[in-house]
Amino acid sequence: MKGRVDGCVEEKADLHMHTTYSDGACTPSELIANAKQAGLDIISITDHDSVSGIDEAIEVGKMSGVEVIAGMELSANYDGSEVHILGYFMDHTDKTLVESLTAFQTARMKRAQRIVDKLNKMNIPLGLDDVLEHVTGDSVGRPHIATALVNEGHATSYQQAFNKYIGDGRPAYEQKCHFSPEETIQLIARSGGLSFLAHPGRLISEETLLRLINAGLDGIEVVHPAHTPELMNYYRGIVNEYFLLESGGSDFHGGNKEDNEALGQYAIPASCVEMMRRRLVS
Ligand code: AMP
Ligand code: FE
Ligand code: FE
Ligand code: ZN
Repeated sequence: MKGRVDGCVEEKADLHMHTTYSDGACTPSELIANAKQAGLDIISITDHDSVSGIDEAIEVGKMSGVEVIAGMELSANYDGSEVHILGYFMDHTDKTLVESLTAFQTARMKRAQRIVDKLNKMNIPLGLDDVLEHVTGDSVGRPHIATALVNEGHATSYQQAFNKYIGDGRPAYEQKCHFSPEETIQLIARSGGLSFLAHPGRLISEETLLRLINAGLDGIEVVHPAHTPELMNYYRGIVNEYFLLESGGSDFHGGNKEDNEALGQYAIPASCVEMMRRRLVS
């Protein structure tokens, strides 16, 4: 059955989804089953700093009639803050890429220890082991730390853990060590992929955008749950103005009602994926 996008019967794609290989609640196989049920025809698995779920998803996707595009979500350090860059269609077995991802995963582990140290200094007796209990894949992240804080009785909710301790700028926050946006975009390009600025959210400055475009950015994630319809129109305008590509997806992590309900609601038409393929061969 084909999904509906903008009133036309066209295949639907959700190009932003996480699995148990990073901070998602579903295995790649479970994700494919959920995607199928939500009427999605094409998906991309975009785990944080990991490509380990892609092979399983491609295999299960073939049996279920869901096309899987190789993807990943990389963080890049940018002037003291962070931007997320999505990579699509890269060779996920590329040696340099795999080595870089391993380095990012190691940096994440060290940063988790730094966050735990900060929490301990705040008299919160959380151990790294308490955090690692919740890690099922390659990339330890703040969601695992938030879950551990709740589980060990140091926060009343996942959201409170972020608001009080580990959210951006909060007392136990620690930055990850990653590449610059330029290096990230190059890494994706050298492994044959296309790079997209993930969920830019509030308006990005023209200066930032030009910096990313000059570095070889291929497109912008226009459709995302954090974007209002007005913001989506704004970014679609930017995409057209700078001859970029459009991507989009639900940023599905699973394990909660909102995410499950959002599945299938933040799709882009298959024609956007076709445009990406054309960029790859041109
Ligand atoms: P990390 O890559 O380890 O810095 O973790 C980033 C992830 O943490 C994001 O993808 C979100 O899922 C989650 N996150 C970050 N900030 C918040 C926040 N203020 N509230 C809830 N979740 C957050
Ligand atoms: Fe995440
Ligand atoms: Fe992100
Ligand atoms: Zn994401």
